[in-house]
Amino acid sequence: MTKIAAGSSELNALWGEPTSPTSLFDKNRHNHYDLTTFFRWDLAQGTVTDWNGAVNFFASEDLITGLMDGLTEEVGDAAPVVLYQIGRQWGALDGQAFDRWFTEEFQRPVRQTNLLFLLETWWWPFTAQGWGRWEIDLSLQKQGFLLLNIFDSAIARTLGVVGKPVCHLYAGLFAGFLSHLVSQVLECAEIQCYSMGATYCRFVVGKAAAIQPVHTWVSQGLGVREIEKRLAGGQALCPTT
Ligand SMILES: [Zn+2]
Repeated sequence: MTKIAAGSSELNALWGEPTSPTSLFDKNRHNHYDLTTFFRWDLAQGTVTDWNGAVNFFASEDLITGLMDGLTEEVGDAAPVVLYQIGRQWGALDGQAFDRWFTEEFQRPVRQTNLLFLLETWWWPFTAQGWGRWEIDLSLQKQGFLLLNIFDSAIARTLGVVGKPVCHLYAGLFAGFLSHLVSQVLECAEIQCYSMGATYCRFVVGKAAAIQPVHTWVSQGLGVREIEKRLAGGQALCPTT
């Protein structure tokens, strides 16, 4: 419980009080996420570069299925962990890139900016690239957790309903990026997935010790409401409950 309280105050200190992100948006200047503005097409070179200078390629659902099948064939049951670690490294690297382009575009330091505004700005390129829309839920912020919803996850949508969470790449991406943002080791667990029959995917991010039991609760079949009730009650630090 003490750890959660400490985490909460640290997160609040670092992340600031939530305010409406929309008030900070200069839509005329920064709204550049439609298909023809965000991507720069060079047909002669055969390349697609995005607004922030990263080279993109377009992948079909067959490619995603093939990658998942190939990885499972190579590493078996470890595939989710491998995907999570790939996502985590991606998130950490993307955090460095985000620091650069955010500072350049908004002329202000990343860590002196409202948390919601930061997160919304970070995810916009992912939405434009087809990774899905998201929604941030701060209802457990006091307990030191950030909740994230992803609508139309590219991976879950491709794999369909398979009865278990499949968005390990997303979970790693959130853990990697947010760890970079707050300079702490954070972990992420998917507590509800489209591939479990839900209408959208839901993730919880927090300190490693607090997230560890969440994986067990998910594998035990606990529903999202029960998991969040436990997180809200501070039971995340008591893995035996
Ligand atoms: Zn999912």
